[in-house]
Amino acid sequence: MVNFYISPLVLKATDKYLKRGGKRSLESLVLWAGRRTQNGDYCVVTCYFPSQHHFPAYVEVEEWAMREVLSQLYLRKQILVAQIHTHPPGITSPSETDRLRVSIHREGFIHIIVPNYGLIPLESLLHCSVYEYETGERWRPLSAGEIKERFIIDDHEVDVKRCRV
Ligand SMILES: [Zn+2]
Repeated sequence: MVNFYISPLVLKATDKYLKRGGKRSLESLVLWAGRRTQNGDYCVVTCYFPSQHHFPAYVEVEEWAMREVLSQLYLRKQILVAQIHTHPPGITSPSETDRLRVSIHREGFIHIIVPNYGLIPLESLLHCSVYEYETGERWRPLSAGEIKERFIIDDHEVDVKRCRV
């Protein structure tokens, strides 16, 4: 099973950004990127805040803003690992638009929905809905146990070391 090592700095910056929109009851989106280790795990070492339009029921990233992130990834030799966005209170499953307009459709890509506009503790991802993209255009929901086991909030230096491949 592939694991995800997430820098606490990334989690902290993500939390701050999501809450900024959340305080105005608006959705926000963050992209996580990093590298893959020799054994196939992912290290999330960077987060991107693409230019976006925030709305109460959706968030929109225009194509040019997405392309800007992709060129940054290319320069830094990183890959996109996950997409995180907030939802209004009570809506925890991905909308039809979420399913179709996800950043990339690659096996193993992670889609995280943070409830209550991100106004929750984000020290772990246990309050979030986490989906993994599988072949056959399927978003598989991860159980709480699986989230706990596979998403490891790890010290930044350890992440970097693990990423040296
Ligand atoms: Zn959504």
